[in-house]
Amino acid sequence: SILKGDSLVQVSNITWDDIGGLEDVKQQLKQAIEWPNLYKDSFARLGLSPPKGIILYGPPGCSKTTLVKAIANSSKLSFLSLSGASIFSPYLGDSEAAIREVFKKARQTIPSILFFDEIDAIVSKRNEGENKSTELGLLSTFLNEMDGVEQLNGVIVIGATNRIDMLDPALLRPGRFDKIIEISLPDQDTRLKILQVKTKKIPIANDVDLIKISEITRGYNGADIENLCREASFQCLRRNIENPGQVTMNDFLSILKPQERKQKDNISLF
Ligand code: ATP
Repeated sequence: SILKGDSLVQVSNITWDDIGGLEDVKQQLKQAIEWPNLYKDSFARLGLSPPKGIILYGPPGCSKTTLVKAIANSSKLSFLSLSGASIFSPYLGDSEAAIREVFKKARQTIPSILFFDEIDAIVSKRNEGENKSTELGLLSTFLNEMDGVEQLNGVIVIGATNRIDMLDPALLRPGRFDKIIEISLPDQDTRLKILQVKTKKIPIANDVDLIKISEITRGYNGADIENLCREASFQCLRRNIENPGQVTMNDFLSILKPQERKQKDNISLF
């Protein structure tokens, strides 16, 4: 098989509660993916058909991939994923074959979610990039497969990208990716919710002020916040590795401080 391990049917155990905030995005995904299955008759009566494809876009580290895993888990659909960056092969035609194969697998395991991470790498605008002929082949293979999904019903295609401006407009035509959802950098309230999720299972001291931390982490994405919490736990561990106590506010602040220092260092370089 041309496909590598990461494109096999995966099992996800991510739940909605693992994702802080983004309630409206969660709701949109449920409506688009779960409702058509749960309320088939109502959809039919109103002449509604489920979206065939969904694009999630926004900056890196803001839980696009995690959201797709959560919807796959909660909707009990089989879940296949392929990273755009991993698909490129030096052998002519191999990338196209990989696309066809992953769609075929998705059809064999319906109802299923077929997830393309970094989808811009597969279907970027036709007039960009050096290797024009290869990219054209990839794009038309992708569009072909996607158009073929219609009759088969039961495969929902989700693409994630940081660069929606790079996508070929042909993808966004009705009947292809007909739902576009933006996921932006977390605002303060969302950062607070992410902090709450990430500290749920660690012993934190009474002095830890998550609101304060959510205020001073402006510009952080979800992945940065996750990292901050992990580093704070490590600080606590270093204090007493045999018998670690609680993670304190100081542990968090000591992690934030070196970052501020780093910024200052960078400035002094110039
Ligand atoms: P990329 O574009 O880099 O692939 P992404 O948007 O797909 O990023 P994920 O890979 O889903 O982001 O998230 C990166 C990490 O950050 C994950 O470990 C995830 O758990 C964490 N994370 C991001 N946002 C949140 C959030 N709102 N709640 C909880 N965890 C989050």
